[in-house]
Amino acid sequence: MIVKCPHCGNTDLEQFLYLENAIVHRRLIEVVGKTLRIEADYDTTPCDDDDEAQHPRLMCSARGCDGGCFDVPSGLRLDFIG
Ligand SMILES: [Zn+2]
Repeated sequence: MIVKCPHCGNTDLEQFLYLENAIVHRRLIEVVGKTLRIEADYDTTPCDDDDEAQHPRLMCSARGCDGGCFDVPSGLRLDFIG
């Protein structure tokens, strides 16, 4: 399965981040079959958004992309690698 940005068509995992809310984000490692491997360690981004709701999604940071978020493709299992 390929993770693809619906905004710009980017498929480079290095340019995606996995977000659980507005603050926590993790880097993607690879897709193996239907499993998306994500780094367990996460970075935080200080921001004013204090929404506690968990809303797992991917964010594209490719050059020229508007940095839009999109849902994790259905059928993709998440595996956090420590
Ligand atoms: Zn994009």
